[in-house]
Amino acid sequence: MFYSIEIRGVVQGVGFRPFIYNLAASSGLKGQVSNNGYGVLILLDACQEELDAFVQKIRANPPPLCEIDSIKITQIKKTKSFECFSIQMSESAKSLSSHIPSDIAMCAECESELKDKTNRRFEHPFITCTNCGPRYSIIRNLPYDRKNTSMDEFVMCKKCAAEYENPHDRRYHAQPIGCHECGARLSLLDNKGKIIESVNIIDKAVELIAEGKIVCVKGIGGYHLICDATNDDAVKLLRERKKRPSKPFGVMVEDIDVAKKIAIINAKEEELLCSNRRPIVLLKKRDDNSLSDFVAPNINQVGLFLAYTPLHHLILQRLNTPIVATSANISDEPLCTTYDDIMKLRGIWDYCLEHNREILNSCDDSVAFVENEKVFMLRNARGYAPLYLRLPQTTSKKILSLGANQKSTVAITVEDSVILSPYIGDLGSLSSINHFKSHIETLKRIYDFTPDVVVCDKHPNYESTKYAKELVAQNQEVELLQVQHHYAHILATMGVKGITTKVLGVSFDGTGYGDDGNLWGGEFLVCDLEGYERVGQFKYFKLIGGEKAIKEPRRVALGFLFEIYGDGVFNLNNPITNSFSAAEIKTLYTAYKNGLNSPLSSSCGRLFDAVASLLDVVQVCSYEGESGLLLESLYDENITEYYKFSMQDNEIDFSQIAKQILDEENSRIAVSKFFNTIVEIIYLVQKKYDLPLVLSGGVFQNRVLLRLIMKKIPDVILPESFVSNDASIAYGQAIAALNLKTL
Ligand SMILES: [Zn+2]
Ligand SMILES: [Zn+2]
Repeated sequence: MFYSIEIRGVVQGVGFRPFIYNLAASSGLKGQVSNNGYGVLILLDACQEELDAFVQKIRANPPPLCEIDSIKITQIKKTKSFECFSIQMSESAKSLSSHIPSDIAMCAECESELKDKTNRRFEHPFITCTNCGPRYSIIRNLPYDRKNTSMDEFVMCKKCAAEYENPHDRRYHAQPIGCHECGARLSLLDNKGKIIESVNIIDKAVELIAEGKIVCVKGIGGYHLICDATNDDAVKLLRERKKRPSKPFGVMVEDIDVAKKIAIINAKEEELLCSNRRPIVLLKKRDDNSLSDFVAPNINQVGLFLAYTPLHHLILQRLNTPIVATSANISDEPLCTTYDDIMKLRGIWDYCLEHNREILNSCDDSVAFVENEKVFMLRNARGYAPLYLRLPQTTSKKILSLGANQKSTVAITVEDSVILSPYIGDLGSLSSINHFKSHIETLKRIYDFTPDVVVCDKHPNYESTKYAKELVAQNQEVELLQVQHHYAHILATMGVKGITTKVLGVSFDGTGYGDDGNLWGGEFLVCDLEGYERVGQFKYFKLIGGEKAIKEPRRVALGFLFEIYGDGVFNLNNPITNSFSAAEIKTLYTAYKNGLNSPLSSSCGRLFDAVASLLDVVQVCSYEGESGLLLESLYDENITEYYKFSMQDNEIDFSQIAKQILDEENSRIAVSKFFNTIVEIIYLVQKKYDLPLVLSGGVFQNRVLLRLIMKKIPDVILPESFVSNDASIAYGQAIAALNLKTL
């Protein structure tokens, strides 16, 4: 009998064809295997029992990087007779649903070769094989063949070519392979662009880092700014030059043993740190850690990640100290991926360790944390991107969703999946908007995709909304759909958990545009796939100064003071009023009373800001999410009380809680009671509805809050292994577009 076996999932570029070849050969079966636009296609000459055993072996023990979505078996007419089992070269057909593999950390076998003096790739900074190395960041097009990657300009030497062509070799068809002779090369530059000659470039770069210099290092999907993480002066210098006063830096270490000296690490966190995706993991700092206090000031957490490229290993092995490794970009601007980009930042770095393998698709480091044995992502990028997510139903519509404005991601639908771009960043500048557009073009090019529906947010001023409208204006055939921000959030969590029934969604975040034109962000929504009803919210409060209030918690708190004391605020003497001049307070009071540039908001994220200001934890933020992180550090789990609150007409009036916080003398008690109150509010509302409770929104990146909710409501549904911030919006929008018929 003849069978065709079509396998979909992450099956290209992961050693799948040689795996099949060896499997068939060892079973004495005849046929062939090839990549096609969908994944891998096998033609097999076998009887039923042989077929069953063959497929069972595929499922039981696939190659490490492979992820099988589906295996479709069809009996076919004999087309040709097979002499043996062979591997066919790729068809040039464009891909429809073949998955692009992510960039994966160096594997253990490559690591031991890297350190083996007798190996011909000893200390080759780009050592890689079928089981590891760059993928997404070097792909220009599908199918994933060397000619479609940025490795196309490196001609393999005889030895590499022999490995590449041998199905029994670990490097069989490993597209990025090379060696000292034929692979990519390092170079070291100073910040004038002058090449620094050295016998051993890595030794020289390490010497410079050890001296306290800031060295820019080209990695997989971008560049890092690197300095010695134990050197106060170096870290301070990097902060000054990067104009980043206090936002925590990520720290890279050589291995898990070094990580354990810096942070307290449980088994799940260790597994995540050591996984081949190698995200930055937020961990609790050890009191006696060796890091400079300037790495993550005033907070009890630190983001650590293990070396993931051979070059990182070679640096850390020599340096023997943890390094700050922060993405090289101007704040809120896209990652640098080229020499020209990096030269624009030469005021920040002293030297640059460059190489000549081109980065085609930028991809930042991923960031994650573990709470209650569950993994939560703060940023889905390297190692995870592009992310393939399920749709609740198969669609023939070609949906392009453009996400929100901050933590931008974009997505396209292919049949029953959504392909989500890596984290793009905030669309706050011309270059980030161009970057956003180029991510859309990449998806369109690789997947040969032309949208017939474009989905965006309802916010009229989001760059993504403006672009959606441009796209639709250019092509009348394309349908436009605008989806409410907080509904999209809940749909995203429902999507990752495969929920299609009615739920109670709690969508707490910074701000999103509401149906009434106000800034929502503390919403209780009864949702299903068809739509939603808003059943609860924080009572609207005024954000004095609009956008400015987002960076200045003191403005949010001042609003509550005006509400509680009226013009009595002029006589108050507290850290909030003292942070403004008397004249400023008078002006702001007038604005507040008359609603001038003081939009109404129900945002829970802003309430965290208000509390941080009321307790004088922070008055003006230097980075997003600062108030939440600082409050987390003050939480005391021995305090179980909460503040009185009431819900009237489906509204919770936070000024009642603010009053109680003002009367509290101890900040730790106030912070702890505030967290407990938010949990009690969610608990109270969910009791009113006999529905599954689904959470989403940036506020739920707060670990203390997550921990408390999971304890209080054990069956709560959370966006595990996915993000809860605005990077999830594009996915939620795509789900909304399956069912929503009208604007
Ligand atoms: Zn490897
Ligand atoms: Zn070679």
